[in-house]
Amino acid sequence: MNSTWSFGDDVPLEPLFKPGEPCCYHCGSPAPEGVPDFHARCQVCGFHLHTCPNCMFYNGLGCLILEPAIWSDTTVMGKFCPSFNWRESEGPG
Ligand SMILES: [Zn+2]
Repeated sequence: MNSTWSFGDDVPLEPLFKPGEPCCYHCGSPAPEGVPDFHARCQVCGFHLHTCPNCMFYNGLGCLILEPAIWSDTTVMGKFCPSFNWRESEGPG
């Protein structure tokens, strides 16, 4: 077989699910490489790093893969999600 995986031409997932450089969603500061620890926080602003807004599966409203772990009994969204993946940083400009 020589075929490659495809999600279909009508669903442009590439610009959406695009892993990027680790950085804090809140202040934009660079974060350590790799998936952050569940309790890791931004060194600059103190916000949690292992949380949905930092993840490429988050679209600003909710988790696009609907991981049940997103709704764990914590105030930090996705804190214990096993599918965390750094999102592409768009930056202010
Ligand atoms: Zn920060």
